[in-house]
Amino acid sequence: MSKLPNVTTSIFTVMSKMAAEYNAINLSQGFPNFPVDERLTQIVSQLAHEDVHQYTPMSGYPPLLAKIATLVKTAYNRNILPDTEILITAGATQAIFTTLLALLKPDDEVIILDPSYDCYEAPILLSQAKPIHIALNDDYTPNWKIIANAFSDKTKMIIINNPHNPTGKILNESDFENLEALLEKYPDVLLLSDEVYEYITFEQKHLSTHTRTKLLDRCIMVSSFGKSFHVTGWKIGYLVAPEYLMKEIKKAHQFLVFSVNSICQVAVSKYIDLVDVNEIGSFYQEKRDYFRALLQNSKFELMPCEGTYFQVVSYAKISNENDVDFCKRLITDYGVAAIPISTFYADGKDLKLIRFCFAKDNHTLEEAAKRLCEI
Ligand code: PMP
Ligand code: GLN
Repeated sequence: MSKLPNVTTSIFTVMSKMAAEYNAINLSQGFPNFPVDERLTQIVSQLAHEDVHQYTPMSGYPPLLAKIATLVKTAYNRNILPDTEILITAGATQAIFTTLLALLKPDDEVIILDPSYDCYEAPILLSQAKPIHIALNDDYTPNWKIIANAFSDKTKMIIINNPHNPTGKILNESDFENLEALLEKYPDVLLLSDEVYEYITFEQKHLSTHTRTKLLDRCIMVSSFGKSFHVTGWKIGYLVAPEYLMKEIKKAHQFLVFSVNSICQVAVSKYIDLVDVNEIGSFYQEKRDYFRALLQNSKFELMPCEGTYFQVVSYAKISNENDVDFCKRLITDYGVAAIPISTFYADGKDLKLIRFCFAKDNHTLEEAAKRLCEI
């Protein structure tokens, strides 16, 4: 008897595996393929010979906690307490899983906005709580009326993801005003804010929950160093939450991982001093612009991309196939792997849209675009 009868292997695993089998250019799963910053690899080489190989304190390596507090202060002018309000996690995935497992009770309802990233559902179901999927509008803006209608006395939490994977949309001031007004009516509802792409926005600045004073006493904010520092395989991130929630989250965290990979924590804490997070957005903006320019003469229609390192395109002018079949054929016939957007919808809504990851070196983007322009 499965506890998760409807959960299947993640689409990222499926597509990356198929890309490898067919030797296709992998623009599916979101990870960079360019070299890691040499300053970071040098820190790691040096650390390998130092005394950094044993458990750190459960919440995290204290200098790293302090530096995250400074980063949040510099980036968002928010004061957070390193000892009680920050937890280092094995990636955002573990931060999210742990939060949901620690805070949800059976029959609680959790509002999820579709298309949604795939790691929210399983921990909700394992907590015997209920995911309530509400679709975003077709232009990927939230429909606050429909969202408000989904709230009830069973609602325990709403999850937002901003900047948004897979759509590349970001929330604006009016979205936050709507959210704040809604949550004011439901004082016990918590907010889980997945902001793993917080530093990857383009024309408009990212509006973080860190800056929304009305939300802070009930918000769990999640970030990922894997995304911010181009090291997705390190699986290191953190969450920020008020102490009364953090106490509960730590109860679960200590038995899931206890403490996170020590050498990565120390390396990140040293590297933070060398990085200007404001440059991450412009770095990816160049890649976005380059990739979009390369696809300009293709038959794909490019959707807006305000943040993240994902470009959504419509293939409606090319084929009527469903998006999963189209992605499979893109691999087998054209040697490029993408992610079908329907897999981010609980009801499999298929708008003939697929997602490409442009966190790749220019040569990879050029070769992929060449193949895509031949379709
Ligand atoms: N949330 C979103 C929206 C993501 O795209 C990802 C993938 N990086 C995660 C969470 C998980 O991040 P991590 O790899 O740090 O676990
Ligand atoms: N976040 C990555 C993406 O959206 C996938 C990470 C994973 O494979 N779990 O592509």
